[in-house]
Amino acid sequence: MDLGISGKWALVCAASKGLGKGCAVALVREGVNVVITARGEEALKATAAELKAINRASAVRTVAGDITTPEGRAAALAACPQVDILVNNAGGPPAGDFREWTRDTWIAALDANMLTPIELIKATVDGMAERGFGRILNITSAAVKAPYESLGLSNGARTGLTGFIAGIARQPKLASRNVTINNLLPGPFDTERLRANTATVAQRGGKTFDEVWEQRRESNPTKRFGDPAEFGAMCAFLASAHAGYINGQNILLDGGAYPGTF
Ligand code: NAP
Repeated sequence: MDLGISGKWALVCAASKGLGKGCAVALVREGVNVVITARGEEALKATAAELKAINRASAVRTVAGDITTPEGRAAALAACPQVDILVNNAGGPPAGDFREWTRDTWIAALDANMLTPIELIKATVDGMAERGFGRILNITSAAVKAPYESLGLSNGARTGLTGFIAGIARQPKLASRNVTINNLLPGPFDTERLRANTATVAQRGGKTFDEVWEQRRESNPTKRFGDPAEFGAMCAFLASAHAGYINGQNILLDGGAYPGTF
């Protein structure tokens, strides 16, 4: 299927690794020009080289910086001639006990996982509406539907973003101009973050990494973890010309782990 987005420009935040990279790969395969960001320059350059090798016709630009800061966002936006597709992503907040979190801990989580996407939407959405095409995908988490006990910062910040998105996605001045805003909710995907998190859980529980990894894998109905390429494929479809009638939705990609009927 031709997704009809060749030549569009996408800003894919936090995309040198993992799910963000999966999205960038899938978009570049479709001929989309991308600006990818991450803090670490080395991995970012390596990913850019991979993307260029996938499709020489796509422009690939890199911006090294922290997307959760005003400077990081300004640099990312400046590198993109126009943002037709925005993929909001950033690292997730740490696990822990809410009794130990201060106001500053909360502000950092809200900045990264709620206010940064809102700021980037604010900077891009009206231009999308003027041009009559826009696709915004926010990478949130399965925790929005079923909270993880130790990830209160993530549960709270991402659910706040989800409520905000539910309201603005339905604004007629955006939706009637072919601008859609949807959230992608990953369950367990095999990325560096999941591996680092598994190592922490194993250490705290006095288990080996392999024990915890296998237990997690077995607990999913599919008996496997998600592949970032699968995540990217969904991102590219929702960014496509064909997905203009899918708006304000929360798309769960978790192998069926969430046990609800709906
Ligand atoms: P990952 O493999 O660790 O990759 C994270 C990417 O984001 C890296 O490229 C990293 O590069 C970049 N990044 C992190 N913080 C950034 C910042 N402040 N500014 C710019 N770039 C930043 O993580 P992932 O598994 O893809 O996770 C992506 C998001 O999905 C996270 O919010 C995570 O909590 C959420 N999530 C993941 C899963 C899962 O199973 N993987 C499940 C639910 C939710 P640098 O470190 O160099 O900046």
